[in-house]
Amino acid sequence: MEISQAREHLSLHKRIVVKIGTTTLTYPNGTLNLQRIERICWVVADLCNQNKEIIIVTSGAVGVGANSLGMEQRPKDIIGRQAASAVGQAMLMNIYHRFLMAYNRHAAQILLTRECVGSPGRKENAHNTICQLLAMGVVPIVNANDTIATDELGELSDNDNLSAHVAIFSESQLLVILSDIEGFYNKDPRTNPKAVLFSEVTEITPKIEAAAGGSGSSLGTGGMATKLTAARTALEHGISTVIASGDDPMILLRILAGGQEGTLFRAGG
Ligand code: GLU
Repeated sequence: MEISQAREHLSLHKRIVVKIGTTTLTYPNGTLNLQRIERICWVVADLCNQNKEIIIVTSGAVGVGANSLGMEQRPKDIIGRQAASAVGQAMLMNIYHRFLMAYNRHAAQILLTRECVGSPGRKENAHNTICQLLAMGVVPIVNANDTIATDELGELSDNDNLSAHVAIFSESQLLVILSDIEGFYNKDPRTNPKAVLFSEVTEITPKIEAAAGGSGSSLGTGGMATKLTAARTALEHGISTVIASGDDPMILLRILAGGQEGTLFRAGG
């Protein structure tokens, strides 16, 4: 399939997981970026009106909670992050609920742990609930259940990988990861002005792996390495992933209209 055909094919996808990173949801000082979150909700509600089924995987609970509690950074200890996430998760759901309801869509909170993804029974429950919500026109909003699980807040866990697992068990056709970077580059574009954006990746080769260094922000986690692992997990299950910038949430409409935005990790060779 040619690149342009592969992009056009994205418009056919109905069930889509959209992962939104902390840096997309907040200002650098950690407060909520209300205008961006409102536009995310507007776009998601509009896609639902077009009979698309959108599942949001949101980050931001720890960052938003930490900021609201007057902390300058994510707490370094797990208990501190758990407390911050409990505050921030409520704030996040409040704002998603208000903005989605403005466009007549309900927000539903789904908090998952690693065990949910690993246990067939729990996974089936999560699958069934998400399918029921989608059938009712509700927008499921997933995050890790950070307050009861230490794993989810450890070094090895992140919402990029969670979003890939959600895409798999919810039988979604596409995963879109929105963050503060335009897509997948051959070098870190923040330190290499000559870095080149990949438009499409069909195979995760050692060269591609080498291009993904570790990174992150003071309030979020992740970086290209976790995004690449998420894309690989999704690819292994026949699900394509687009990594793109969430600065302008309208990008979601352009991606689903076949536009050449970000990097497409294309399933199916
Ligand atoms: N679950 C964390 C939060 O909501 C985010 C983890 C991540 O960004 O990967 O703050």
